[in-house]
Amino acid sequence: MQFYLDGYQAGDPFLADPHPSVATRPEGLPDEVDVLIVGCGPAGMVLAAQLAQFPEIRTAIVDRRNGPLAVGQADGVACRTVEMFEAFGLADQLVSEAYWVNEVGFWRPDAEDPSRITRTGRIQDVEDGLSEFPHVIVNQARMLAYLRESMGRSASRLEPFYGLQAADVQLDPADDTTPATVSLRHVRDGEETGETSTIRARYVVGCDGARSAVRTSIGQELAGDAMNQTWGVMDVLAVTDFPDIRLKAVIHSANQGNLLIIPREGGYLVRLYIELDQVSDRDMLEGRDVTPEKLAAVANRILHPYSIDVKSVGWWSVYEIGQRLCRKFDDVPVEEVPSRLPRVFIAGDACHTHSAKAGQGMNVSMADAWNLGWKLASVLRGTARPELLHTYSGERQAVAQELIDFDREFARMMSAKPKSSPDDAEGVDPEAFQAHFAQQGRFTAGVATHYEPSMITGPDTHQQLATGFPLGMRFHSAPVIRLADAKPVQLGHAARADGAWRLYVFADGAYPTGAESRARGLYDFLASAKSPVVRFTPAGADPDSVLDVRGVFQQGHRELRVEDLPAALLPRKGVFGLVDSEKAFCPDPRAEDLFDLRGIDREQGCMVLVRPDQFVAAVLPLDAHDELGNFLGGVLLDVR
Ligand SMILES: Cc1cc2nc3c(=O)[nH]c(=O)nc-3n(C[C@H](O)[C@H](O)[C@H](O)COP(=O)(O)OP(=O)(O)OC[C@H]3O[C@@H](n4cnc5c(N)ncnc54)[C@H](O)[C@@H]3O)c2cc1C
Repeated sequence: MQFYLDGYQAGDPFLADPHPSVATRPEGLPDEVDVLIVGCGPAGMVLAAQLAQFPEIRTAIVDRRNGPLAVGQADGVACRTVEMFEAFGLADQLVSEAYWVNEVGFWRPDAEDPSRITRTGRIQDVEDGLSEFPHVIVNQARMLAYLRESMGRSASRLEPFYGLQAADVQLDPADDTTPATVSLRHVRDGEETGETSTIRARYVVGCDGARSAVRTSIGQELAGDAMNQTWGVMDVLAVTDFPDIRLKAVIHSANQGNLLIIPREGGYLVRLYIELDQVSDRDMLEGRDVTPEKLAAVANRILHPYSIDVKSVGWWSVYEIGQRLCRKFDDVPVEEVPSRLPRVFIAGDACHTHSAKAGQGMNVSMADAWNLGWKLASVLRGTARPELLHTYSGERQAVAQELIDFDREFARMMSAKPKSSPDDAEGVDPEAFQAHFAQQGRFTAGVATHYEPSMITGPDTHQQLATGFPLGMRFHSAPVIRLADAKPVQLGHAARADGAWRLYVFADGAYPTGAESRARGLYDFLASAKSPVVRFTPAGADPDSVLDVRGVFQQGHRELRVEDLPAALLPRKGVFGLVDSEKAFCPDPRAEDLFDLRGIDREQGCMVLVRPDQFVAAVLPLDAHDELGNFLGGVLLDVR
């Protein structure tokens, strides 16, 4: 993280100076905003944290709760989500507080005595090299607190308004110059007080969960089916002789149901997901009289011959599985896409719901919000074409569909009884489940998302130049040495949640000032008047605020002289015109060379263009100057 660009100041450097508009902002809910976010769950808070980076955008976020979520709900944080938190500067705190899911244990009925469970295997949770971050577990309430703190420290000083429930959204589809009007009912302790407010917004985003009022107001429905599977979930402090209590463990019993153990942050707390059986637990389910004590009794039944003595329950809930999805994540029907721009969006559980078993709900909801956040910010800041907003529903609806398909199979296997014989068609072979779990590791880690070609994902014509950076997938970080200060860093961490595109220039092997250098021609172009940096950066803005150029060289960091770096890698920024010297990187001699690690053509070199949400948009030859300009020109607005 860089700071003191516009002046040295005492105090916490992570606390941004408030934007001048903060001092003149009226107290309380504003009458009009650019973006109204409904819901302070994971989706809403990521969106708010992203928009808070742009204090010139007027954002409000409301929730019907009295205040922030205190405990409960989701807790699985996929590697990809930690990567996203890194871009917000929040990963260090998250990984130090969280439980790390390094291995998973599998248990099934003992062949000799099926009434007893026995350990069948233990596997690595995340394959080596998949991400520089671990898969972690931390309570959703903490995740939301990090995001709230990030908003509070931003120049926007954005804070949620609680106790406000969105009732409906009114907008004239034929008139996109008049903002939408949202009516808000005042709520205290879940009860309406009778008071109402209205707020006008250019864009409204419904992050208001599975019963979304915003979704209803745009005529979208969650379609799909309930699976008739009910799970009890509880966070407990307990004493047990079950040996894998500090490992994520999947337990299939013969006739007593299934249990998922998720150790939690802090070393003692454990989450139990307990499947309630439609037969043995029917009375409890039909009578809707589930209690933590009854859930603990079921857990003991499943764990036999082990037992668990629950001493304290931090949170508990009953959770029904259903896979449901909306056809469109915005207010524009498919047939009107060519003629209308979206103004109301839905994200997270408002547009897709599924089981909690693969720990995807919070992660996918946050990923929805990040996908939308940078797009809204770019359009509102006047740097991108508004058609960009159509890509949100296009990209995220496809991801949600994949998630639903994955989850249906995962939840089925998780809930099935272990196969009693090879002819048992209904049962699941626990070993097959273990193999399925391992195979799906990339999906559950959140790194399998693959966007189709669109205005922001180019064709794979030149993919062979960088085989380890697949088009449409997230930019996979790698270790490097930052040239100027010889610091070992992750290349992917150059990307902050600041709305900028990133152009990583992987140089050919020639010395950058040599006549034979292929990269040199590109750097000359990037420093010229035709450069996309010049074309798309508004006057007065820092030169890396829209397109941030980063250079990666093949030479070791002691073989490359800083004074030989091209001007495009030493941009002048801020009120003093200071030089940003953190743009050039070399291979890390203590790690595998990233040119090999990511399959970069050493002779040709290449450009890898990365979207603000870290997805690879284009891989181009170093001399494809026009192609680069044309691609960006299809998304960004010429501002000069
Ligand atoms: C009770 C419960 C238990 C869960 N348990 C688990 C679990 O054990 N494991 C797991 O992986 N996942 C669990 N989930 C799912 C997981 O929490 C969600 O997938 C995730 O939170 C989705 O995030 P979101 O932001 O889309 O929605 P949510 O987290 O549901 O957030 C929606 C927010 O919108 C607010 N809101 C709703 N309607 C309005 C309105 N009209 N106006 C204003 N505000 C509104 C709500 O108060 C809420 O704060 C659970 C969800 C719930 C509701």
